[in-house]
Amino acid sequence: MLIRVENLHVSYGQKEVLKGVSLNVEKGQIVSIIGPNGSGKSTLLKTLSRCIKPMKGQVYIENQNIFKMPTKLVAKKMAILPQIKNIPTDITVGELVSYGRYPHLKFGQRLEKKDYETIDWAIERTRLEKFKDRHLMTLSGGEQQRAWLAMSLAQEPEILLLDEPTTFLDISYQLELLELVKELNETLRLTVVMVLHDLNQAARFSDNILVLKDGQIWEYNSPNIILNERLLRDVFRVKGHIYQDEINRCPYFIPCSAK
Ligand code: ADP
Ligand code: MG
Repeated sequence: MLIRVENLHVSYGQKEVLKGVSLNVEKGQIVSIIGPNGSGKSTLLKTLSRCIKPMKGQVYIENQNIFKMPTKLVAKKMAILPQIKNIPTDITVGELVSYGRYPHLKFGQRLEKKDYETIDWAIERTRLEKFKDRHLMTLSGGEQQRAWLAMSLAQEPEILLLDEPTTFLDISYQLELLELVKELNETLRLTVVMVLHDLNQAARFSDNILVLKDGQIWEYNSPNIILNERLLRDVFRVKGHIYQDEINRCPYFIPCSAK
């Protein structure tokens, strides 16, 4: 098992936001986390990446407790693309991507040939060659999101954590990004854990889906089992019908009305 999460409890002050979350993720899987607003999805992702320390519970990567691992080692194992990024205004795409190499450098060490090769590789994989010297701020939302993904790739992680990577993108950029994530998952055997808002996209692009409700796991299973009318009603408070997408071989739903 690549990632093992045991009984996580996370609170902000008095408020308990994760109430005993446990899950396993195998290497090479894509797992999507879905759930209503405020159910604890971002908190779970931040705890997985060690940005938040739980009150109780542990996260293991390859049987190593991440809260006891050196920071740089954690950063070599996983990269996180947070939902809200502090965008430095005046850096180029190439500079942003180069930040991904820092976990691999020793104190005071500069980027070397190998690092520049990895940076170029990450830019190529995300098809950003022609944007390399452009300022980040001059890119469209979809291109910026690809640049952040390139920075994560330059980290050469085994695990990629993404928090709502398609929010604010139009539908074509949404699909482009998720197809790219899938391609990286397949070609690099990159393990992906991502929060997705769109249930149909989660069903299409994931091996397994984790449903969070009020800080607890409602269910964790394959898309065909997860996507049903009970989920829509009891978790998302909508009525809808489930169909099978024969082309992409996944279930999808069409909402009818709010419950
Ligand atoms: P989701 O990503 O599913 O929308 P979050 O994990 O962001 O949910 O938040 C879960 C709950 O924790 C929400 O009620 C939110 O208001 C609260 N919360 C999130 N971050 C903080 C914080 N830094 N301080 C206090 N409460 C927070
Ligand atoms: Mg969130």
